[in-house]
Amino acid sequence: MRLAEQVTFGGGGLDRAAALRMDAAALAGLRAAPQARALPLWQGKPLVGPDGLGWIAPDHPVLGATGGETVFLGLAGGAARLAVDLSDWVPAEMPDTLGAFLDPSEQRHPGLPETHAFTELRRVMTGLTPLDAELAATARAVLGWHATHRFCARCGAQSRVVQAGWQRACPACGGTHFPRTDPVVIMLITHGNSVLLGRGPGWPEGMFSLLAGFVEPGETVEAAVRREVAEEAGIAVAEVGYLASQPWPFPASLMIGCHGRATTREITLDPVELEAARWVSREELLASLAGEREDILPARKGAIAHHILRLWLADRLD
Ligand SMILES: [Zn+2]
Repeated sequence: MRLAEQVTFGGGGLDRAAALRMDAAALAGLRAAPQARALPLWQGKPLVGPDGLGWIAPDHPVLGATGGETVFLGLAGGAARLAVDLSDWVPAEMPDTLGAFLDPSEQRHPGLPETHAFTELRRVMTGLTPLDAELAATARAVLGWHATHRFCARCGAQSRVVQAGWQRACPACGGTHFPRTDPVVIMLITHGNSVLLGRGPGWPEGMFSLLAGFVEPGETVEAAVRREVAEEAGIAVAEVGYLASQPWPFPASLMIGCHGRATTREITLDPVELEAARWVSREELLASLAGEREDILPARKGAIAHHILRLWLADRLD
């Protein structure tokens, strides 16, 4: 595996066993096996225990009581891994931080182990094994898609879940709908010894990261990189190369990490997209990562921006 693939959510080698999604009998057998495990999620937050994700038996009574969707995530060591949406459960106290970038609240379900709580994935993602990180990202992304795509986009009728959670079918018009992944380019733009960093409106004081933006319909990854950098910072970019990608299920992005070489240096800011942008030298970035710069706080650990910037500093963009 390339160094660049060792990013959080970068792939845990999950066997998605897509051929089994149509095979109801085989799935029922796998689900009933003693090694099978299910991961409950509530409002997009996975169940987390003291040792990582809070996997429970698929026949646990709490899972039988929900009307939420179930998704077959795949096989781990030959055993089924499922995700179950428990979002119809109402906790005694509803957090007001739900959906916030870093929701610090935790919810304990009375029917689940006391040591387990529904926890925002971004708070725990860097502590998970690569396989559990991939399973949690997949579970969050697919269940989040079901929650917001209950009706057919062609005719408006209520659609139903098929293919073990990997598709929705419309009984009225015959339309089929697949889970979405939205491509986002995130780019290391360099000029000599410096990298272009920006900060969005409302970000924590001093935080800077790589520029990023959604790829538009009809656009290549390379064109999206050049357009976003031109729009947001007024910088022209020549060659663009691919570095690494990261599934980012908040709610449904695929971050495509690229490297672009700037041919101009003067920044013209788009104040709607960015609050500030600046060139940062390797020395300044090293000091920032060492916690020695209050004016440049680095991108969060676990995010692909952090990973790419560290690889650039180490001269290991391979
Ligand atoms: Zn339809």
